[in-house]
Amino acid sequence: MILYNSLGQTKQEFVPYTSGKVNMYTCGPTVYHYAHIGNLRTYIMEDVLEKYLRFSGYDVNRVMNITDVGHLSSDADTGEDKMLSGAKREHKTVLEIARFYTDAFFADCEKLNIKRPDVVEPATNCIDEFINMITVLIDKGYAYIAGGNVYFDTSKLETYYVFGNMNEEDLAVGVRDSVEEDENKRNKTDFVLWFTKSKFDSQELKWESPWGLGYPGWHIECSCISNKHNGEYLDIHCGGIDNAFPHHTNEIAQSEAFLGHKWCKYWFHVLHLNDARGKMSKSKGDFLTVSLLESKGYDPLVYRMFCLQSHYRKPLTFSYESLDNTAKAYEKLVKRVAALDGEGEVESAKAEELIASFKEALDNDLNTSLGLTCVYDVLKADCSDATKLYVIGELDKVLSLDLVEAAKKASEPQADNELVKAIEALIAQRTEARANKDWAAADAIRDKLTAMNVAVKDSKDGISWEFIK
Ligand SMILES: [Zn+2]
Repeated sequence: MILYNSLGQTKQEFVPYTSGKVNMYTCGPTVYHYAHIGNLRTYIMEDVLEKYLRFSGYDVNRVMNITDVGHLSSDADTGEDKMLSGAKREHKTVLEIARFYTDAFFADCEKLNIKRPDVVEPATNCIDEFINMITVLIDKGYAYIAGGNVYFDTSKLETYYVFGNMNEEDLAVGVRDSVEEDENKRNKTDFVLWFTKSKFDSQELKWESPWGLGYPGWHIECSCISNKHNGEYLDIHCGGIDNAFPHHTNEIAQSEAFLGHKWCKYWFHVLHLNDARGKMSKSKGDFLTVSLLESKGYDPLVYRMFCLQSHYRKPLTFSYESLDNTAKAYEKLVKRVAALDGEGEVESAKAEELIASFKEALDNDLNTSLGLTCVYDVLKADCSDATKLYVIGELDKVLSLDLVEAAKKASEPQADNELVKAIEALIAQRTEARANKDWAAADAIRDKLTAMNVAVKDSKDGISWEFIK
């Protein structure tokens, strides 16, 4: 497989450290609010990458952190504490906020058919590991204490800007949000490993450390959590392009200083989702969530397909108009799959050939839009319906659009749905009649239901019904 590697900024042949095995790390969400669909674009594309690696026969171990402490509103350790601002906003504790939004994140993932990583680790579970890594960094001379905080000294590195393309504007990240410079830093690019002197008096989560009562910086958690669950050698690290600098740059600095050798081979970055105003964010424009899309009648898988239609390394512009087009395309596609009758034998040579073209598309830097085109090619192919259904099922292991399942649902006899609606309408009428103490009407409706072979059960938990067997 050929993958674009942000490290080196070229397309490269993917060769993991250990043949057949892939250690993969994903920066998880900061759980202080719902994820917006721009964040989720990244998780969808990472999910496709993971599933495609498995499809290609690799044994994948994927690890993700949950940021529940230490992430400030500017990624360069300045501004407000995100978790604390979430807790204030909702008058809850930080841990309550973390639990709620972690669950909300995975609920969104499930709706989008994003597989849960093999290991999911909240940062607050790993305080001992952070303290250990910071201690080693101080011992090795890569970190210093100033004003009560511990900082990583970026001047000790031969190369700090590993991803290239860094200009003054990128470097100004610390002052971008009109926040004061931290005068404890020896170099502009130094970053916090451990905070003890905090301007957030109400910081709820604090731990004892050799440097005093405090809490970890944001960047250290990913280095530690990856090291803990993936070992010293990481094959692929993923994240949104926003994270390349300073977050991923700082992760590399810490991990390689700590380990004393090269750490991660490939960096996979997904580009922004834009709306008419530019890059989508929580603070401006509509706060677009999966639930909002659902409330407007969109199947979350339509959004997944919308993401798959474009390449992960290109910015994608969201509009309801484009999403409507994808919704129509999805519906048509499901109908075409539903029209396959499953007759005939699976022609294995033909199936292999069709799967090979799909692999060719994804092997080329995860070209998902071409991968989707392959599904249409399968539908047009000269082979049995059984072959087509089989191949579409295989391709959908990676695309995860539920094509075969949705087609099955779509081809269920329409009458069944009508019947269910009629039964539920009768039950509602019966409930109303009973509420009005109109027992005669209620009994008459019950008889009607019995004649339809339906048994109604009244219990403390409410009313349920089933067909009489
Ligand atoms: Zn991270």
